[in-house]
Amino acid sequence: MKASAVTTAARVLSCVKSSASRRRSGSIVLKPENVTHIVVHCSYTPPSMDVDVRTIDRWHRVRGWLMVGYHLVIRRDGTAENGRPLNMVGAHVSGYNNRSVGVCLVGGMKEGTAGAHPVDETNFTPEQYTTLAIVVRTLKDKFPNAVVVGHNDLTRTKTCPTFDVKAWAASLNL
Ligand SMILES: [Zn+2]
Repeated sequence: MKASAVTTAARVLSCVKSSASRRRSGSIVLKPENVTHIVVHCSYTPPSMDVDVRTIDRWHRVRGWLMVGYHLVIRRDGTAENGRPLNMVGAHVSGYNNRSVGVCLVGGMKEGTAGAHPVDETNFTPEQYTTLAIVVRTLKDKFPNAVVVGHNDLTRTKTCPTFDVKAWAASLNL
């Protein structure tokens, strides 16, 4: 493993760990043994937008949600950020929230198409894919019953995150 990948791994591991150890009273508890899916999403923003977890948190609160609906957000530079704590049920996929963890890749929209007719584009950076692989491996250790899928695998009307997550995971033996 390259030094940069090791650094990324250490950062991601501490990210996942601190998220899991946090407690929120009054929230719905996500039990590790119930987690059957790790669901990959995209923020559906153009590549030039450096969206972070605080931005998405703001968007989701405007919708009336408790806080950011994803458990992890992976920024354009490959940085993984904590969203909703891993011991809390998320808000990211209809019908599966109480048995899944949501990971959001920032990107997925073609530059210059925001507005009335946005266009999907699989435009994630190599750093994001590297971090995603580390995040998925770490989450699978924590949730051994979970398989990794895309939002588009669970909700047929969605194209999010714009690529075949199962094929990507299979190519890396995840
Ligand atoms: Zn999604």
